[in-house]
Amino acid sequence: MRVLLVEDDDLIGYGVEAGLRQAGFTVDWARDGQSAELAITTTDYALLVLDLGLPKLPGTELLRRLRAAGEYVPVLVLTARATVADRIDGLEAGADDYVSKPFDLAELIARCRALVRRSQGRGIDVIRHRNLTVNPVEQRVSLSDVPVPLTSRELAILLQLVTHIGIPQSRSRLEESLYGWQSEIESNAIEVHISNLRKKLGPSLIRTVRGIGYVVEKA
Ligand code: CA
Repeated sequence: MRVLLVEDDDLIGYGVEAGLRQAGFTVDWARDGQSAELAITTTDYALLVLDLGLPKLPGTELLRRLRAAGEYVPVLVLTARATVADRIDGLEAGADDYVSKPFDLAELIARCRALVRRSQGRGIDVIRHRNLTVNPVEQRVSLSDVPVPLTSRELAILLQLVTHIGIPQSRSRLEESLYGWQSEIESNAIEVHISNLRKKLGPSLIRTVRGIGYVVEKA
């Protein structure tokens, strides 16, 4: 899973980056509000870890703009300004949680994990497509009501496809959905997982789109 860390302080940034990596996240690090805004428009993030005191564009302003644009990525705010008024400012601007500096890295990571878990369960109900049922929260898949055991990686790929019905997903997009499950992805990993998914769920569900990737077609 990909996380955007927005922090202008090198020392804090290196610490948080290392901690998030160790926890299995893929980390992009932006050092000012403008680069962060640009990164968010070009990349899908599972989480933002956002410092409020930033050069070029303050964190609260960035957050307000994101929420105004309908961007619902979960945001954990890092704040040195631990007054009640500042916390309220951050939460009102659209933060989901905050930690005050100096913070305990383990606690920060735990809060990041909780936010990602919460947001992944949020908004996505059970998905039904033809005779396929996918329950993302309980991580269960069934075909004509018969449970089909999938590995975590197969489920991650299937979820990416069934949450984008009719929209072909590139191999690199599918690889991104695997981040956090394995640190290095072998070059043929996606093909192997797709092939296994076809064996388990039938050959017609996932169609190969030549030169692009894979798609689950509309029913
Ligand atoms: Ca700062």
